[in-house]
Amino acid sequence: MTDCPCVSGNSYDECCGPYIAGNAAAPTAEALMRSRFTAFASGRLDYIERTCASEMRETFDRGGAERGAEMVKWLSLQVLGASCVSAMDDTGKVEFAATYLAEGLIRVHRENSVFRREDGVWVYVVGEIQTGAIVPDPIKVRRNDPCPCGSARKFKNCCGA
Ligand SMILES: [Zn+2]
Ligand SMILES: [Zn+2]
Repeated sequence: MTDCPCVSGNSYDECCGPYIAGNAAAPTAEALMRSRFTAFASGRLDYIERTCASEMRETFDRGGAERGAEMVKWLSLQVLGASCVSAMDDTGKVEFAATYLAEGLIRVHRENSVFRREDGVWVYVVGEIQTGAIVPDPIKVRRNDPCPCGSARKFKNCCGA
């Protein structure tokens, strides 16, 4: 059993796995947000495209998304708040902090994502960058440090290679 990359504490198969595999639809905006993080973290850009709002899907830049994904390693996710409380809601917002590694620096991305239901299924509409949010300074990873991806290898032999 592998832990889900969204850091929910559940296994992948009991968390984001069924949504990414297309066997189930995420029941809440937060569940969709988590599964999109997991899809980013595991390079499943087909899922990212599939869970965009219809107007975004038309202009989705798959090549650009793939190039961006190669430069970034997503490390962990913290959900800070979700505004979709009722199962009857058709729009929802999820605020989160996602930690990632790029060019030897660990940074935090803070965002308030907006979701809505299309034909009963949650999709991602837009991300509002949290301008007022407190984002810690980037942390430099040194070559001999343990790799922040959790591989138990040195950074220089893993993501820093
Ligand atoms: Zn998950
Ligand atoms: Zn690594």
